[in-house]
Amino acid sequence: MDGFVSSIQSMGTLDGPGVRFVAFLQGCPLRCGYCHNPETQAVKGGTKYSADEIVNKTIRFKEYFGAEGGITLSGGEPLLQAEFAAEIFAKCKQNGINTCLDTSGCIINENVEKLIDLSDYIMLDIKFTNDSDYLKYIGCSIDKPLEFLEMLNRKNKKVRIRQVIVPTLNDNNENLKKLCEIVKNNPCIESVELLPFKKICKTKYDALNIPFLFDIYESAGDISHLQQKLNNMIKKETT
Ligand code: SF4
Repeated sequence: MDGFVSSIQSMGTLDGPGVRFVAFLQGCPLRCGYCHNPETQAVKGGTKYSADEIVNKTIRFKEYFGAEGGITLSGGEPLLQAEFAAEIFAKCKQNGINTCLDTSGCIINENVEKLIDLSDYIMLDIKFTNDSDYLKYIGCSIDKPLEFLEMLNRKNKKVRIRQVIVPTLNDNNENLKKLCEIVKNNPCIESVELLPFKKICKTKYDALNIPFLFDIYESAGDISHLQQKLNNMIKKETT
């Protein structure tokens, strides 16, 4: 079947384990204030590809993937095109290619469940650890990604949680404690990666004529101390 892709990166190293072929699918139902890829948000747009075309492109890079790499479907929100994504993953797996899904976890339906079953590794955003920030800055309730996480537990998936750290919003102990709590309650989580909020995407917002609401926040800079603190908390709580 066909789907719509915003862009492709042939040898990415930031979107999942190892070296990966990354397809950023078009369309997202959320509107995160710090979204790095605002060009992927509109449901209409992107370039039409068949699942076979994406799979064939991926196969061309197979020799570079090594033991850990493979394909990552990101976005946008790949769950919006779950059937298309599932066909890509099914065919990649037939060709011995590891599959990784990068998602906000905001949709659960039958096609999404099929897609999860075909995902070897999942990177799930837990964007904030309280409902009011989720509703205010993301556009859905925190219940959505938490329900998604429950499903990943049930299905025994390998999960990496990711969170963007925005100064004054979530660079605090309370957030780290809540993240640690989430890890404790969800054995499927293998690691939590904190990412610094950056403003380099502002030019994209200007070009698209979309207001960049998070321009009022400072870039996060070095957040390794927070990552270290969180890792220590998790270690203490889970061993
Ligand atoms: S879920 Fe991702 S693509 Fe969608 S608005 Fe948020 S950051 Fe952007």
